[in-house]
Amino acid sequence: MDRLQRYQALVRDWAPWKVINLNPIQRGGILSPEARKAIVEYADGYSVCDWCPPKTPRLDRIERPPIHDFYNDLATFLDADATRVVTRCREAKFISFLMLKRARGGRYVVVDGLAHYSTFLAAELCGLQVKTVPVGPEPEFRLDPEGYHTAIEAVRRESGELPTAVLLTHVDPTYGNLQPAREVAKIAHDYGIPFILNAAYTAGVMPVSLRDLGCDILTSSGHKSWAAPAPTGILALTEEMVRIVLQPSQHSPVKELALLGCTVPGAPLIGLMASFPHVVQRVQRWEEEVKKAEWLAQQLERIEGTRVLGQRPRQHHVLHVRSEGLHQIAKRHRKRGYFLYHELKKRGIVGIQPGLTRHFKLSTYGLSWEEVRKVATAFLEIAEQYGIRTT
Ligand SMILES: *Cc1c(COP(=O)(O)O)cnc(C)c1O
Repeated sequence: MDRLQRYQALVRDWAPWKVINLNPIQRGGILSPEARKAIVEYADGYSVCDWCPPKTPRLDRIERPPIHDFYNDLATFLDADATRVVTRCREAKFISFLMLKRARGGRYVVVDGLAHYSTFLAAELCGLQVKTVPVGPEPEFRLDPEGYHTAIEAVRRESGELPTAVLLTHVDPTYGNLQPAREVAKIAHDYGIPFILNAAYTAGVMPVSLRDLGCDILTSSGHKSWAAPAPTGILALTEEMVRIVLQPSQHSPVKELALLGCTVPGAPLIGLMASFPHVVQRVQRWEEEVKKAEWLAQQLERIEGTRVLGQRPRQHHVLHVRSEGLHQIAKRHRKRGYFLYHELKKRGIVGIQPGLTRHFKLSTYGLSWEEVRKVATAFLEIAEQYGIRTT
């Protein structure tokens, strides 16, 4: 029992509300104060199921709490015909690939070279091969949409059929590059292939319209970008895709087959809902968020041998930093690469992966200007303290 008791009080050695957290996968998922309260209210198991309609028992039909309305409001917000909340973005991709394969056949999906690993796993689990569209050279790693044309033709040549689907990662997790979705959508549609936009890093933090961008399916991650607890994923669809992706089960016709009936039943869904008004407002402040990221990038580049990779000026909050300067310190420091983590933590800043100095990622999303300035000062101070030149 002693061994088990350590699970009863799980605490960190830092208080989240006292520090600046720069972890890029965490910034967009920090709960709104409303969500933090609501999840306690609905923390028990199937707590949203009190008023499940007896004749059509299904999560998205529940009116109390207003899950049915939420699904519709979420669709309006994303400019889609319908939405479903699933466990994670990767599940939304898996479901889309699976149902498109069942409906259209094909053996390949075409995806961008910067796609998240989970895109490849989703395809693999569906028995689909992946053809990637290469990205350009450093330091910007730009994606040329025309590459989709080439990749689709290659699939046609090699397999004798068109790909099952085309997927683009709206903003990739490695460099935080924002991609030209509309142009890729047009290429996919010229071939009659459904276009999936993986908006894990965009929808929920910046304005995104499924219809404007020409998507058939949009996937996103609640715990990444919607101020929601894990696990929450978003699947947004056009009417045409609803017919394919949300087909009813033959066994239980009221249930949607690919969702295995009801999806996320409790606190995570409630948290996503409670943060929704906050999310609707915050996407309006996107330009300011981008300004903070670009400003910090320029400040970090004052450290000798430091460069922020990816598109410049920045169009997104994720920064990929390459720093030969900080790496020089790590080489001679007793704590090796961990020195950076410790130096930052002393200054009330966390979220850079411990041990990394040469390449690391960070995000300023949702921080105040004062906090962003504090981050810049901390990095410059640390560099100077160890004798690395700053300009
Ligand atoms: C973080 C991320 C994911 C994973 O999201 P989950 O909701 O955890 O599945 C998928 N795609 C991209 C582009 C991401 O950045």
